[in-house]
Amino acid sequence: AVQANFYQVQLAPSCLSLPEARGLADPFLLCTRRTRLKKIGQKVMVGDRVIIEEPDWTGGRGAIAEVLPRQTELSRPPIANADQILLVFAVAEPDLDPQALSRFLVKAESTGLEVCLALNKCDLVTFEQLQEWGERLSSWGYQPFFMSVFQGLEFIIENEKEIKKHPISDVKLAVNHSLIHQLQDKITVICGPSGVGKSSLINLLIPDIDLRVGEVSGKLGRGRHTTRHVELFELPSKGLLADSPGFNQPTLECEPQELAYYFPEARERLAAGSCQFSDCSHRDEPNCIVRGDWERYSFYLDFLEEAIKRQEALQQQP
Ligand code: GDP
Ligand code: ZN
Repeated sequence: AVQANFYQVQLAPSCLSLPEARGLADPFLLCTRRTRLKKIGQKVMVGDRVIIEEPDWTGGRGAIAEVLPRQTELSRPPIANADQILLVFAVAEPDLDPQALSRFLVKAESTGLEVCLALNKCDLVTFEQLQEWGERLSSWGYQPFFMSVFQGLEFIIENEKEIKKHPISDVKLAVNHSLIHQLQDKITVICGPSGVGKSSLINLLIPDIDLRVGEVSGKLGRGRHTTRHVELFELPSKGLLADSPGFNQPTLECEPQELAYYFPEARERLAAGSCQFSDCSHRDEPNCIVRGDWERYSFYLDFLEEAIKRQEALQQQP
């Protein structure tokens, strides 16, 4: 966590095993950034791996001397070295809108990180409805985690077809075993619209923290989301979670030419062959391998138009 000009740096296990570290109450040092880093404009982001010099073990202080090369870098939320995005949606309340979901999926895919999808509030619909969503999303190229944070249930697809409901005995420790496994040892950024159960999920995954649930509208909710800094929460099952502010309609900021790659269905087609024109927009060009009868092709066209309009607007700016 970053406060003003201080960085809370979590110590690696190798540091914690040093005899000097024994007196520390928490596995953290509060660090400043070395002037040398400021001079070269080297910023420190949440998620960065850093080297600390001259630690003051008794005072719990130190100075960041070096930032190790980043594997990945997100700008919104600003976070380094994230491995994956966990997109949370609800199957009901609010209704699952395929286009809104696709907008988030495309936005998530455009980061280049691995994208996982969790569908919450499974307690509110029938198994047949879950089954249908499972098949539909699978045709989009996603295998979602079905869950209910509310009831501490996980829904598992058995025999590749049948969805079975399993109560979880220790709700505090496991919301969904396969989801826990997916989060293990990774830095995961949670995102999704408000009201789908993200705070509830984080509260369940990390019993020590207490995020406020249900404050999705009104001044307080908005204020909280806009002013809050990015924070990484440690999972009891190892791994780090970053909560990103909820937003309902993410704008697609990608280049029109890139858009097809953010749809797994189109990406698969482009990996297997190529269109006649290398700059094919996959609309009405001859011999296009992307255009076809896949369910989300119409969303692709809608988003493409939006991306082109956005690009034109940017070009008209002085
Ligand atoms: P967030 O805005 O995504 O962080 O969503 P919250 O965690 O604040 O939850 C929004 C509302 O949905 C709250 O009233 C929760 O109690 C409710 N909720 C969360 N998870 C579930 C669930 O699995 N089933 C049902 N029925 N309601 C849920
Ligand atoms: Zn094409």
